[in-house]
Order: sequence, then structure tokens, then C-alpha cells
Amino acid sequence: MPPSCLICEQSADSVTRLCENCNAFIRQSRQQQLKPGCQSPQRCLRCAVDLDSGLSDGALHCAQCIKQPPRFHCCVTATSYNPITGKLINQLKHHSKLSATLPIAANMVEAIQSHYAHSADTIDLVIPVPLHIDRLRQRGFNQANEIAKPICKALGLKLAFNLCERRFDNPPQQQAGLAARHKNLRGAFIVNADVKGKYIAIVDDVVTTGATANAVTKSLLDAGAARCDIWCFSRTPRKQ
Ligand SMILES: [Zn+2]
Ligand SMILES: [Zn+2]
Repeated sequence: MPPSCLICEQSADSVTRLCENCNAFIRQSRQQQLKPGCQSPQRCLRCAVDLDSGLSDGALHCAQCIKQPPRFHCCVTATSYNPITGKLINQLKHHSKLSATLPIAANMVEAIQSHYAHSADTIDLVIPVPLHIDRLRQRGFNQANEIAKPICKALGLKLAFNLCERRFDNPPQQQAGLAARHKNLRGAFIVNADVKGKYIAIVDDVVTTGATANAVTKSLLDAGAARCDIWCFSRTPRKQ
């Protein structure tokens, strides 16, 4: 019996754990390259949010990054967040289907390799966004860590899973504004190892507002890290 697709339950490929259609859909969601005839990238070069191609032709960054750039150097995402990519993440996070890390990590590795033109080996450390201990006990695993493992293996990079710790957890605040999210995350992450001069990639499943990615970055830069990039599977489009 072939495994069933993690997204639609049709019969799936035993390596990717997705059916042909879902695999093709996810591959098509990787829109890092320029659209023919379009001068702007499809994503903000800084935070990877989808750029509105109708409004931003020629723009390289979103309005928010121009106004107040995040602390991280750049965000590399494999896909945009949509019901299909969201379902795959949901299978991992809320149904403990660890096999979902296979297509997630494989697509992230391709996006990372194309972003760094096959020179991601200049990165010193890879750090998964830490979960608070209560959340970790409840879920039994940190999804960012599970995603980071096969990525580090594929790229030959060092994974540092306990270098950064989450001191407190806030309830999900989908409705809270960005300023409120930043404020609630102040002091949430502590770094408990020497990261001076290190070039670090921070892994997460989804980047929504970027507030969490920014807070982890801030604590690493404050501890002396030289540069932090964010790697995620899905980037949530910003509401217009
Ligand atoms: Zn499918
Ligand atoms: Zn941006």
C-alpha cells in the first residue's frame, strides 16, 4: 500500500509523502524567481511577504520594510501560506504527522539553495525558533526543530537546538497589531551560549507578522551574533 497524501489523502509518493498534484502545487508556490516581464521580485527581498504586483512594479521591498526594516537580514520562504500549505503544516503541528517534515524540508532546501546560489555553507549555525517548555510538553516536539534536522543534514550545517530558549509564551494574538506583538515578545527569548560573530539561520514553520522572527533575531544580535536570516516553509501574505 502506498502512503496516502498528507494533504488530500490520494495515494502518495513514498519519498515526498504527497500526491503528484499536491507536490506540483507546492512546487509552483515557490515563486522566488521573477515573473516574465515583471521588474519586481514577487516577494519583498527583506521579509519575503508577497508584493502586490499591480502596485509595486519595480519595488524590491514592501512598504513596511521601507518604513521600519526588521532586524533579520532576510527571510527565505519556500511557499506562501494558503489552505494547501497550511494543511501540511497543520498535519505536522496539530496531528503530529512527523512525515510532513519530508516535503516541508525538501521544499525549503530547494528555496534555500536557490536563494544562496548553493553557498549556504557560510552559515555557522541553524537555530529552530524555540517553543516554551509548556508548549513543548503539550505537543511532544518542536516542529521548527523537526524541520531544521533534515535541512541541516541535507546542507551539511550545524543545528543548535538548545542555544536559545523561550522564557514565556503568549496566547496566539491573531488580532493584535504588530506593535502590540513586538511589545508582548520583548524579553521572550534568551540566548544561553556564545554566538559572538556567528552567522545564524533561524528556522520556523510559518512566518506570519514576522514579530517572533524579529524577537529571536534581536536576542541573538544582542548576544553578539553577526547576522541572522530567517528560513520558513510558508510566509503569510499581508492583508491589503
Ligand atoms: Zn494530494
Ligand atoms: Zn518586507
